[in-house]
Amino acid sequence: MNKKIQKLDETVVNRIAAGEIVVRPCAAIKELVENSLDAGSHTIQIHVKQGGLKSIEIRDDGCGISKVDLPLVCERFATSKLKTFDDLYHLNTYGFRGEALASLSYAGHVKIISKIADSQCAYVCEYEDGKIRPSTSIKPCAGTNGTLIVIEDLFYNNPIRLKMMKSSSEEYTRMVDCVMKMALRNTHVSFTLKRDTQIEPDVYTNGKDTTILQNMKMLYGADMVKDMYETTINENDTPYKFQCKACFTGTQYSNSSKVSSSSMTFILFINGRLVDCQPLKKAIQQMYAVLINKQTCPFVYLDLIMDPTTLDVNIHPSKNEVRFLHADPIIVAIVQAIEHIIVAKSAKQTTTTTQ
Ligand code: ADP
Ligand code: MG
Repeated sequence: MNKKIQKLDETVVNRIAAGEIVVRPCAAIKELVENSLDAGSHTIQIHVKQGGLKSIEIRDDGCGISKVDLPLVCERFATSKLKTFDDLYHLNTYGFRGEALASLSYAGHVKIISKIADSQCAYVCEYEDGKIRPSTSIKPCAGTNGTLIVIEDLFYNNPIRLKMMKSSSEEYTRMVDCVMKMALRNTHVSFTLKRDTQIEPDVYTNGKDTTILQNMKMLYGADMVKDMYETTINENDTPYKFQCKACFTGTQYSNSSKVSSSSMTFILFINGRLVDCQPLKKAIQQMYAVLINKQTCPFVYLDLIMDPTTLDVNIHPSKNEVRFLHADPIIVAIVQAIEHIIVAKSAKQTTTTTQ
């Protein structure tokens, strides 16, 4: 066997890295939506075909990308959001690694049309493997302020990955779930998600800076909020300082058809990022199991703000599970606060119904 060590070709390295970031179409959507939010958009419209495998189109009205930046936009580690390592400690954007668009250009065909407010016209450019596609160039075109990104034929060069995608409808279900969650928290942004030739969107919010509960109604239906409670847990005076906005269903709620999951729907944002935290989820699940004697599917939304230095976000884009210092007291405080409200409300409901 020839054991000679060789350095991998740059394109091979970048293609491998791309596969880790754009694991599936839903991961692409998350990255693209985050970019649109970072660009200060008020409207984000997404249209996908065949579960995103044929195409993903995302249009926003954000700050746009200037003509001079277009050659760099799909290059790996090219970002407008971070300059020095220290910037990482006071980051107020989702992105900072400059890897998403690059990865997409290694995994599919990328076209960007963008216009900044100061420019007379928009510019269009196509990309391949991190660069402007050979024999094409940046061209002026008509367009409104903001950015339209089109990704076509995702994983065209990765037949194994393509095969792993079970079905386009399953991919689409994941996208609906992800976009709904992002839309829920970003009440000031109007989100639309449509698929194939469908006219009616599957996800829609009006972006009129409504409350989380109003957004929830728009996204999950009016039934959802009938037995929903809201609270803010403020533990800023403790050594493990945190603040948590929580919306959760009570004892009367039973699952509505719009919620895909058959168990609890658990939506967790930590410092603005959509993440998972299994120990917290399990603790809440157990609390519901004890409180509610029958099989129900509670809905819990938590928006947790904590000291970024106590959080290990494991910031790899495809790994969403987080760990944090002082996890035990934080979990206990959240679970107790929710439990306290549910118990108090259900006691009130029982007394009013028995009167
Ligand atoms: P990151 O978000 O980590 O900077 P990306 O690869 O996602 O890396 O994007 C690269 C750069 O492209 C961003 O830093 C930003 O300047 C620009 N960009 C991407 N999407 C948009 C968008 N929708 N509107 C404006 N600029 C964008
Ligand atoms: Mg990004």
